[in-house]
Amino acid sequence: MNKTVAFSKNSVNVFFHILTQCNLNCRHCYINPAQHGSKTLSIETVTAWLRTFLDTHREANLILLGGEPTLHPHLDQIIFAAREMGYDSITIDTNGYLFHDILTRITPTDVDFISFSLDGATAETNDAIRGNGCYDKCLAGLRAAVRRGFKTSLIYTISNDNIGELEMMPAFLENLGVNRFFIQVIGIRGKSAGPGRDHLQVDRQNWLSLIPQIAERVSESGITVTYPKVFLAPEERFECAGRVADNYFIFPNGRVYRCPLCEDYPLHSLVFKDDRLYETARINETDLFCLDIPEGCVMNKLVQPGNLSYGEDGNPEYKIACCLLKEEVPGKSA
Ligand code: SF4
Ligand code: SF4
Repeated sequence: MNKTVAFSKNSVNVFFHILTQCNLNCRHCYINPAQHGSKTLSIETVTAWLRTFLDTHREANLILLGGEPTLHPHLDQIIFAAREMGYDSITIDTNGYLFHDILTRITPTDVDFISFSLDGATAETNDAIRGNGCYDKCLAGLRAAVRRGFKTSLIYTISNDNIGELEMMPAFLENLGVNRFFIQVIGIRGKSAGPGRDHLQVDRQNWLSLIPQIAERVSESGITVTYPKVFLAPEERFECAGRVADNYFIFPNGRVYRCPLCEDYPLHSLVFKDDRLYETARINETDLFCLDIPEGCVMNKLVQPGNLSYGEDGNPEYKIACCLLKEEVPGKSA
C-alpha cells in the first residue's frame, strides 16, 4: 500500500549542487548556469556550508548533486567530512559515469545510497533524452555499484517523451539489484522551459491511471518506490513545504532555495556570503509560500500551469500538490 510521506521539521534535507559542470547535455536538464553559477566548490567551502545546516536535535540528510557530482575531484573527501560532522544519511545522485573511480575510493558504509538516473527502459528512449551511449554507461555503473555492495536507486523522470516505457519498468527492474525506484515528474525549468518543450507535462488522467499501479508492481520485487503526489484528491489538504519543512537546495554561486520550482529565478530566500548564510531581501520565494490559491501550489501555477484544468465555472478542477510531497510504496519481501 502507498502512503504519503508527511512533511516534517524533525529532519533537515540538504540538496547540495557541489558543481554545475556535467559531461552530459540532457535535453531536460534543470541546471541553469546563469542562475546557479559554474563554479566547482572547494572542499573547504563545501564543508563550511555543510556545517551550517547541522543541528544535534534533528536528523540531517545530504544529497550530493551536480552537474555530475562524481566529476568533483574531492567527492570522496566531501563524503568523509559530511559523515564525520554528523550527517545521518548521504546519497550521491549520478548519471552513472562514476568519474575519478569513485566506487574504489569510498565503501558502502560511507554512503547510504548511490542513485542513478535513467529516463527510459530502452537505449533508444533514454539516449534520445540523455545522449548517445548513456543507457549502457549508466547500467554498467549501476551494476558495478551493486557488485561492490552499495545500496542503489534508479531515478526515472517522467514526461510525455518517456511515459510510454514505464510499463516496461517492473520487469526491467526485477533483476537489476536496485533497492529503490524513484519516479520523478518533469519540472518545467531549465531546458524544459525552453521553446518547443510545451508537450512534456503528463496530464492528470495519465498520471493517476499509470503511476500508482506501476509503483505497486515494482514494489512486488522488494523495491521501495517513491513518486511525487502531483494531483491532490478533493479531500486531501494542500501544504507548502516552504512553510512546514526544512529543505535546502544549494548552488555553487551561493544561492540557497527552499523551493525547487523557484530555481530559474533570483527568488532564493537565503545566500552564502563568506561562508555565512544570510536571508535575502524580500520579495523572495518566502512571500510565495504564504499565498493560498485554489490551484494549490503557487509556483506550479506560475511556471508550469499546463497540468491545471478549469471547469466551466472558472474554478480549478483539482489542486496541485507541493512538488516535494511524495508517495511511498514499501518493497514487499518475498
Ligand atoms: S546528467 Fe544531470 S546535470 Fe548532467 S546534463 Fe543530465 S540532467 Fe543535467
Ligand atoms: S513547490 Fe509550491 S508548494 Fe512546494 S515549496 Fe514550492 S511553492 Fe511551496
